[in-house]
Amino acid sequence: PKEESPNSDDKNELRSPICCIMGHVDTGKTKLLDYIRGTNVQEGEACGITQQIGVTYFPAENIRERTRELKADAKLNVPGLLVIDTPGHESFTNLRSRGSGLCEIAILVVDIMHGLEPQTIESLNLLKMRNTDFIVALNKVDRLYGWKTCRNAPIAKAMKQQSKQVQMLFNDRLIQIITQFKEQGLNTELYYKNKDRGDTFNIVPTSAISGEGIPDILLLLVQWTQKTMIERLTFSKEVECTVLEVKVIEGHGTTIDVVLVNGVLHEGDQIVVCGLQGPIVTTIRSLLTPHPMKELRVKGTYLHHKEIKAAQGIKIIAQGLEHAIAGTSLYVVGPDDDLEDVKNKTMEDMKSVMSRIDKSGEGVYVQASTLGSLEALLELLKTPVNIPVRGISIGPVHKKDVMKASVMLEKINEYATILAFDVKVTQEARELADELGVRIFTADSIYQLLEQFKAYINNLKEERKREAAEEAVFPCVLKIVPNCVFNKKDPIVLGVDVVEGTLKIGTPICVPQKEFIEIGRIASIENNHKPVDYAKKGQSVAIKIVGSNSEDQQKTFGRHFDIDDELVSKISRSSLDALKQNYKDEVSQDEKNLLFKLKRLFKIP
Ligand code: GDP
Repeated sequence: PKEESPNSDDKNELRSPICCIMGHVDTGKTKLLDYIRGTNVQEGEACGITQQIGVTYFPAENIRERTRELKADAKLNVPGLLVIDTPGHESFTNLRSRGSGLCEIAILVVDIMHGLEPQTIESLNLLKMRNTDFIVALNKVDRLYGWKTCRNAPIAKAMKQQSKQVQMLFNDRLIQIITQFKEQGLNTELYYKNKDRGDTFNIVPTSAISGEGIPDILLLLVQWTQKTMIERLTFSKEVECTVLEVKVIEGHGTTIDVVLVNGVLHEGDQIVVCGLQGPIVTTIRSLLTPHPMKELRVKGTYLHHKEIKAAQGIKIIAQGLEHAIAGTSLYVVGPDDDLEDVKNKTMEDMKSVMSRIDKSGEGVYVQASTLGSLEALLELLKTPVNIPVRGISIGPVHKKDVMKASVMLEKINEYATILAFDVKVTQEARELADELGVRIFTADSIYQLLEQFKAYINNLKEERKREAAEEAVFPCVLKIVPNCVFNKKDPIVLGVDVVEGTLKIGTPICVPQKEFIEIGRIASIENNHKPVDYAKKGQSVAIKIVGSNSEDQQKTFGRHFDIDDELVSKISRSSLDALKQNYKDEVSQDEKNLLFKLKRLFKIP
C-alpha cells in the first residue's frame, strides 16, 4: 500500500521546470552555472554530490530573493527551478523523456566578444531537433572595455550605469549577434525590448564573474516556462522519469541517477528500466539525495527519503541495474498495470535506434555511452550522406563488438569500422581490431567522430582513384593535325584535336582502323607549350605517347598508323568497371554517350 503524496490531488499544482545549459566551449557555461548555484565547481570542486545526482534545485524562495530588484516577486507559481549540472550538448542529447526533450528550456550561452561559434550552431540544431525553447545568455559583458561592475544587478540597471562608449560598444556587438542569429533563421531580441515573445527568442546579457543579468535570467526562466508551458508543468501522479547516469557506488553496487520529471517515487516501488539485454524489473531499495548541510565532497552524506515528488534529481539504489541504459525512461509498475505491458513500453526507447540498423546487414558499427548520444550520432550518420549502420551497442568496446564489425572486412572493407563515442575501448578489443584490420574511431564529440570517418572515407576514395587511375580509362577520340607530327617514334609526339571526350595522361591509345593496334599510353599533354593533365573536347594539344610497357615493340607513325587514322582510348570490360566504380561522379553525359559508342566499336558485351 502506497501513501498518498501530499497535495498530489491539487489540479493546479505545478512542478519545477527543468533547464539545461548549452553553447560553445569557453563561453562560460560552467562559470554561469556556478554563479547561479553560488558554488565553485569550476575552481576545482568538480566532484560534489549534487553533480552525481545531475541537477541543482533552486527553491522559488531563493529565486524570489535574488530577483527582488526586478519587482516581480509576487508571481512565482512553480515550486522552484531545476538546472541540469552538466553543461553541453552531449548531456543534452542524453536528456530525453518519452521521446521529447527532457528540458523545458535551455540557456544558450554566447560569448559577447566572439558571437556565434561552431558549437553554438550545433547546439541550435539540437534544440531545433528536440523542439526545445531557449534563452540566449550573452555572457562576459564585463569584458566590454570600460565596463563598470554592478554586482548582481539586473541588466537594465547595470546598463544605465555604463558610459556612452560602453553602451555603444554593447549595442554594436548585440546588433552583430542578432544578425548572426538571423543568418541561422532565428529572430532574437534583448529580452526587455522583446514585444514579440514567442517568435522572437530572448537575449539576456550576463556576467558570470560579477553577476550582472543573473537575476534577469533566473526570473525569465521561471516566468517564461510557467507562462507558456502550464500544461507540461502541471503536476501529475503519473511518473515520468529519465535515467541520467548508471554508476557504481561503493557499498551500494550499481545505482542509477535519475531526473524525476513528474509524479512521485516511493521506496519499495516496483520499477522497470531499459537494459541492454532487455527490460530490468526491480524494486527501489533506497531513494537518495545529497545532504544539504554537509560538505558536498564528503562521501556517504546522502539523505534517505520514503518518497520524493517531482521534479528532482535522485539516486536510486536497487538490485540488477548493471546493464541499465542511461538516457532511457524509468517506469513504475502500478497496482493496475500489467507487467508485460510496462516491460514493452520500457523497451520502446531502444526501438528508434534499432530501426536505424540496415536491413542488408551492411554498414558500420556504432557505439556510444548513452542512448541519447547514440541516437544523436545515428541521426548525424543519416544526412547529408547516408552511412549505413549494421550494429549498435552502448558501453565500452569489447572483443565481441570487434568481431561483429569484422564481418564487413570481406564485404565492404571500409565499413569494418567501429565509431565509438565517449566509451572506453578495452585493451583486448584494441589488439583484436589491430590484428583483424578493424578500425576503431574515437572522439570527444559526435561531430568530430563523423568528421574523422568522413575524412577516412574520402582518403580511401582518393587512394582507390589513384590505384584505379591506370585501369580506369576516360573515353576520347583524337584527330592528328597535319604537319604536326613532331616525332615518329620513341616517343611519338603529335599535335591532335580532341574530337570527342576527354584526353588524360595515362590513357592507352589505339587505332581502330588498324585492327585496334595499341600505340602506347599518353605520357604528357601540352596546351600552348604548357603541360596539362587533361584536354577537353574541342582543344588542340601536343601529346607524347610512350610504349605501354618496355617489352612492347615500339610503334611508329607512318608504319603502324597514319595521318588519317583516328586515335581512340583503348577500353575494355575492366577499364569500364574501374571507371564506373571510382569516377562515377566525374564522367559527363557526353562521355557516357561516347563510352557507349566505343563499347560497340570494341565489341564489349
Ligand atoms: P565553458 O567551457 O563554457 O564551461 O566555460 P567556462 O565556464 O569554463 O569559462 C571559460 C573561461 O571564461 C574561464 O576562464 C572563465 O573564468 C571565463 N568566464 C566565464 N564567464 C565569464 C564572464 O562572464 N566574464 C569573464 N570576464 N570571464 C568569464
